[in-house]
Amino acid sequence: MQHKKLTMPERKRIALIAHDNMKGELVDWARHNLALLSRHQLFATGTTGHLLEQELQVGIDKLISGPLGGDQQIGAMLVDQRIDMVIFFWDPFEPMPHDPDVKALLRIAAVWNVPVACNRSSADFLISSPLMSTPHEYRVPDYDRYIAERTQA
Ligand code: PGA
Repeated sequence: MQHKKLTMPERKRIALIAHDNMKGELVDWARHNLALLSRHQLFATGTTGHLLEQELQVGIDKLISGPLGGDQQIGAMLVDQRIDMVIFFWDPFEPMPHDPDVKALLRIAAVWNVPVACNRSSADFLISSPLMSTPHEYRVPDYDRYIAERTQA
């Protein structure tokens, strides 16, 4: 597949999602990293976002709740390069009914070369990366060329 280069901004657009059993862990992680997170624009699925706002008094752009389609709203934003990074504390002990949503979001993040942290350690590595405080050039699929290749006779 052909790719093109894009630049994600210095102020990252970060999506935060946590399944119910992981919400406490995400809130705790966000509290520890609030100074760093506050430099960026934060998005979250409905309930996760509500909890973060309530616990940390931080501004969050809230989407609809995950089970109602919030994960898929974030997926669509990944496709449009409106989210630069996903912190997704999914619950490995509760596969149903989440598995299809987890798989769909991880897949589309892989397609669009978006970094994803699925647990606290990987979130620590992402948030402390030097790339968090600078614009960052990265590759995404070149959709126009992809369509052109597939429609060539
Ligand atoms: P929620 O969605 O933040 O609205 O709970 C998360 C999820 O279950 O995907």
